[in-house]
Order: sequence, then C-alpha cells, then structure tokens
Amino acid sequence: MSKYWSSLVEQLKPYVPGEQPKMANLVKLNTNENPFGPSPKVIEAIQKELNDNLRLYPDPEGQALKDAIASYYADYDIKASQVFVGNGSDEVLAHIFQGLLKHDDPILFPDITYSFYPVYCGLYQVEHHAVPLTDSFEIDPADYRRTNGGIIFPNPNAPTGRYLVLQHVEEILQANEDSVVVVDEAYVDFGGESAISLVNKYPNLVVCQTLSKARSLAGLRVGFAVANEELIEALQRVKDSFNSYPLDRLALAGAVAAFEDRQWFEDSCNGVINERERLTEELEELGFEVLPSKANFVFTRHKQKSGAAIAALLRDEGIIVRHFDKPRISDFLRITVGTSDQNNALLKALAEL
Ligand SMILES: *Cc1c(COP(=O)(O)O)cnc(C)c1O
Repeated sequence: MSKYWSSLVEQLKPYVPGEQPKMANLVKLNTNENPFGPSPKVIEAIQKELNDNLRLYPDPEGQALKDAIASYYADYDIKASQVFVGNGSDEVLAHIFQGLLKHDDPILFPDITYSFYPVYCGLYQVEHHAVPLTDSFEIDPADYRRTNGGIIFPNPNAPTGRYLVLQHVEEILQANEDSVVVVDEAYVDFGGESAISLVNKYPNLVVCQTLSKARSLAGLRVGFAVANEELIEALQRVKDSFNSYPLDRLALAGAVAAFEDRQWFEDSCNGVINERERLTEELEELGFEVLPSKANFVFTRHKQKSGAAIAALLRDEGIIVRHFDKPRISDFLRITVGTSDQNNALLKALAEL
C-alpha cells in the first residue's frame, strides 16, 4: 500500500495465474497449455514478418485476422464485421465486462468457474451473483432465470471441464433476451460444439475464444469474440479508448496462419482428446473420480487422499498440477492433458503414491 495508490487499486484482488516455474525437466500440467505445439506454418509466418516493417505500427483493426476467422467460420455465415480481436481472450473478456456487462443489476456466473471473472468485476466495479453449480458440477439453465445485468460462463466450464449442450445454452439465451450472454469457449475445440453457430440467431450472444489452448499459442496472446455487429461495436469503442494496437505484427501473422492450417489444428485437438480419454480411464483405475471432460484437462479427486496432499507429493516428483483451495472443490486437482510421455510419468507417480 502507498499513499500514491488510487482507492480502486487498494481494493483490487488480482488474478493469480498458474505458476511458470523455471526448473528444467518439469512435467508441467498446471496451466492447460497444449503439449503438441503450434503449427510449423505459424512459426514460418512469424519469421517472415521479422523484418524492417517492425518500425511501423500494425493494422489497428487486425483486419487480416478478422477475415481469417470469418472464413474459418464461413459455415455459420460469420462476417468479418462480427469479429473482434484482442491481446489474449483475457483482454477481450475485460472489454466485454466494461462494455457489455456493466449495468445496474448484478451479472451471473457459476460459483465454480474461471477465477478471472470476479477479478474483472473488481476492476470495473460490476456487481455479481455466483450461481451454484448442481451437485454433479453442472450448469442448470433453470438457475439463470433471475434479474441480471448479464451472464457469463465458460463452455466447457473451467476448472470442471463439463460441457453444456447448445440446446441448454439456447435456453439461457431465450430466458434472458434483455441481457448479454457471454459464452467463453477457451476449450470448445476439444470435443464441444461452438455457440458461434447461434450468433446470427441471438442478438444478445457473445462467443469468446482464445488461440492459447487448442491452437497452442498461449505465448502469442491472441483472443477474439464473435457476436452481432452492434455488440462488436461496443468492444471496438472500448478498445479504441484503451489501446489502438493490441495485436502486434508478429501476433497477427501467426494467428492468421494458425486459422489457415486446419489439418494441424484438427490433428492436435484429436491428439489431446485421445490422451484425455486414456488418462481418464487410467485415473479411474487408480481410484480417482474424474468428471466427464470436454476440455484439455481433467478435474479429478481421489476417494481417500486429499487434493492438496497429492499435489504436494507430485511436486516432489517434478510434476506440477493445479489445486484450488476453494469451497466445494478443495479435494480436486485440475490436471492438464500432456503428451503421452508426460501422462505416463504422472500415472506412474500416482501409482507409486
Ligand atoms: C485460458 C482461459 C482464458 C484465457 O485465455 P488467453 O487468451 O490466454 O488470455 C479465458 N477463459 C478461460 C475459461 C480460460 O481457461
């Protein structure tokens, strides 16, 4: 604390990201990065962009990326003017909170969810109400029929990995015509269906995605939102009052190439899905309960041992997983699906414990 701080800064409770330890040879299964790495075409595109043009500002609109995303989702009839791009989906989400979720009534999100949401509420002074997940850690659309200033949830949810079918997403949209409903699809490509298919049907829907997980570009910082043009305009207005150039030349070039290389993307998602199914089965054999996951992680608890104890023992073996010391989920571990070697190392360590 300092007398120079604003009163807002004094009250902030910032997000704490999963740690990025500097030790070599770690089996790092704590931050849901993709173990298979980005497409070689992405690296090539970035290398081509490494030239004297770096003295020039990038395109403030990121038009080439909006075009690439619109054409990737051509089946859903998405126009480039319905796409917003930002520096990681965390930045896109921040603009959504400020531009579309800040109203008089509290916004709604699940009690167990992405822990950045309450942080944005603190930063932008948005009231919220946490809606409990069911006992089986699912979102029940019936719980989202109450006065609100907006709704946001990840689908699949984090850290549970549970997916809400689009029919239920539609129920929430239909019951809340007067508020914006934000579906944060950071993990949708690992087996879920995207609500981008619903954007032209619901004027109150915003779908947010990231290139950090399925496209294996967490280090590049690219995220985007798809919605109708009026909602996108709100995000543009916030962005142009905040930072004209959120995506640099390298990020734009790499992100465009990522959307163009569909084959690499699909192979990598399938690789993660196959490993996730194997990991789930083997964890169950070791006495773990594993929630059904459509993400690149599993959320699991052991029938006898506490989550904190297992996380600490794994750490001694150089394996890092995520434990949340929070009500309802303190027994659980969130384990990122790794390469088959990494998953084998994890399973071996768990069997020995
Ligand atoms: C990882 C994650 C994000 C953030 O993605 P970035 O694009 O890396 O900022 C957003 N929402 C959820 C639910 C996530 O898990």
